[in-house]
Amino acid sequence: MEPQQRSPLLEVKGNIELKRPLVKVASRLPLPGSRRKRGPDQMEDALEPEKKRTRGLGTTTKIATSRPRAPVLTTVPPTQGQTAGGLQGQSTCHPENHDSAFLLSHLLAAPKVPKKTGPRCSTAVATVLKNQKPGPAVPAQKPGTAAAPPMVGGKKPGKRPAWDLKGQLCDLNAELKCCRERTQMLAQENQQLRDQLREAQQQATALGAERRVLEEELVRVRTQAEQGQQELGNLSARVLELEERLGTQEGLVQELQKEQLGLQEERRGLAARLEEQERRLQGSEAALLGSQAEVASLQQKTAAQEALLAERDERLHGLEMERRRLHNQLQELKGNIRVFCRVRPVLPGESTPPPGFLLFPPGPGGPSDPPTRLSLSRSDERRGTLSGAPAPTTRHDFSFDRVFPPGSGQDEVFEEISMLVQSALDGYPVCIFAYGQTGSGKTFTMEGGPGGDTQMEGLIPRALRHLFSVAQELSGQGWTYSFVASYVEIYNETVRDLLATGTRKGQAGECEIRRAGPGSEELTVTNARYVPVSCEKEVEALLHLAHQNRAVARTAQNERSSRSHSVFQLQISGEHTGRGLQCGAPLSLVDLAGSERLDPGLALGPGERERLRETQAINSSLSTLGLVIMALSNKESHVPYRNSKLTYLLQNSLGGSAKMLMFVNISPLEENVSESLNSLRFASKVRSLPIPALSGLLVVVGFSILTLCPSGQGGHSSRKDLHLPGIW
Ligand code: ADP
Ligand code: MG
Repeated sequence: MEPQQRSPLLEVKGNIELKRPLVKVASRLPLPGSRRKRGPDQMEDALEPEKKRTRGLGTTTKIATSRPRAPVLTTVPPTQGQTAGGLQGQSTCHPENHDSAFLLSHLLAAPKVPKKTGPRCSTAVATVLKNQKPGPAVPAQKPGTAAAPPMVGGKKPGKRPAWDLKGQLCDLNAELKCCRERTQMLAQENQQLRDQLREAQQQATALGAERRVLEEELVRVRTQAEQGQQELGNLSARVLELEERLGTQEGLVQELQKEQLGLQEERRGLAARLEEQERRLQGSEAALLGSQAEVASLQQKTAAQEALLAERDERLHGLEMERRRLHNQLQELKGNIRVFCRVRPVLPGESTPPPGFLLFPPGPGGPSDPPTRLSLSRSDERRGTLSGAPAPTTRHDFSFDRVFPPGSGQDEVFEEISMLVQSALDGYPVCIFAYGQTGSGKTFTMEGGPGGDTQMEGLIPRALRHLFSVAQELSGQGWTYSFVASYVEIYNETVRDLLATGTRKGQAGECEIRRAGPGSEELTVTNARYVPVSCEKEVEALLHLAHQNRAVARTAQNERSSRSHSVFQLQISGEHTGRGLQCGAPLSLVDLAGSERLDPGLALGPGERERLRETQAINSSLSTLGLVIMALSNKESHVPYRNSKLTYLLQNSLGGSAKMLMFVNISPLEENVSESLNSLRFASKVRSLPIPALSGLLVVVGFSILTLCPSGQGGHSSRKDLHLPGIW
């Protein structure tokens, strides 16, 4: 351990070791070797006997001086030959001291120590002699000094004879002198010992002070040791705590190492992915550069294409306008008023007509041509009765724009009128009528058959579906179309809303036909709903609602639907914002009331009178329709639109560039032959009218009501030619 980290305890020990020389210094005193090992606290005790000894020595010396015969030197060990030699020398170098030497030899030879001196004195002398050996203060006597008797011839003087008292006295004197010197020497030694004692006492004092310092230091060291112990305990606890924390930290470190391994693995994976992504990025960048070049090229091409597109758009618009013009021209060539004849099939439970009753001769192009002719045979029962022979049959041939035999489907019928629907989108008013006696299939043709079968759908849902579809196509050319539907019923010259909901359901007489505004050509029916439609579902819902409203009316008045006109109108509005163009026209689909005549022979009861009134109203309106058509075809200045609610409501769908199509519906039954023949005759005559104003205008009117008599050639017709049979 480094010196600066040495513990206080060790420092104290070191200090003690450093101070040991002090004790060693003390050990230089002439003390027994065993006492040298004692501690500083024992020094005082050790010094006490020394003092006593010193005091005893003084006593011994005194005794030795006063009693020279005491065997003082007997305790001198033989090893101290130097001293003994000195004594021997003293006894031999001075012959005059023979007595003394003799006395001394006696003394030496004496077997016992006098009791008076005691062992204490002997011991003191021996101690003094012993102390003389190491003490530097006592110089060693050299042989031949003055104290020793002179040697004669190098021989030891022999024993003086008894008579030689003088010699003996001389010896004794010499010996006395020697003793005196010895005493003096001992006094010096005593003085030296006292000095040593004083020095020892000083050392003891110093050692005592040092001891106290050391004790204080010991106390301090012990305190430090206790503090150290306490600190050690704290440190041990701290060590335990730290070890515990170390364990926790090690666990944490292991977890972190695991996590680190996982992260390293993940990092490697990510690095690999990054590398892959960078490779792909580089590839993508290269591709991007290529793409950018391609984009620039494409942009150029696009600009060229856009210019081309604009040019083509312009051309397309021109072509569209040209198409509309040509389409309209075609429709006009076909006739702004056309007549189609449709014969419904024989229904279950109805009697099948005799073979050849209705024939559909092929057209000029053969069987592949759509039929345009119809042949109906009628037996003349009156002539047969008169002659008694079977009644002869008369065949009546008719020709129309198109004839639909009983097996014709709804789609086949619609195909023929889809071009008119296109005209409506192009901005030309279109009006389609269904005309015929009750039960001939007018409602079936206009709305369709029961059950919601799409194959049985009539003209109204099909026409609207076609309109929506074509409008969608035209939106690509910048045209936006909107459609608003209304559905009203005209019964006995009163208008009723078939789309009415809530409390207005089934009520009549509240609706009036008015102009939308002063000076406006547009007509509107007050209190009637005008519902915007944009899809087939909405149209279906409207037709369903109209059917419900008719059913309510049917319960109130027996089969009123067949005695009223149903008018479905769709206001079409188109706009081309890019070119600031607008177009709009009404499409009217009219299910006319039954055209049958009343039997003139029927008795007029209350019910029949009501029926008569209904029939008169129907015939009046249908007659007015015929008159309006005639007036339009003759370009008369006055067109009697106001003579009936029907013509008044439809005035915007008739005349001018309007397209009119009339379906004449025929029953296939022989029993209805009279009504059918009337309808076919009327329609055929109308169709044959040359009307220069409306090229190809054909008017078909139910035979049961009107008989149109052409006024010869030249395309003229006049009101006086209209013969209204029967009920007028
Ligand atoms: P109208 O409306 O002229 O009084 P309807 O349309 O009500 O006559 O038809 C009378 C019946 O004849 C209805 O049951 C109808 O389903 C049926 N009908 C009419 N025309 C056809 C047709 N082309 N095909 C099949 N059934 C028809
Ligand atoms: Mg009907």
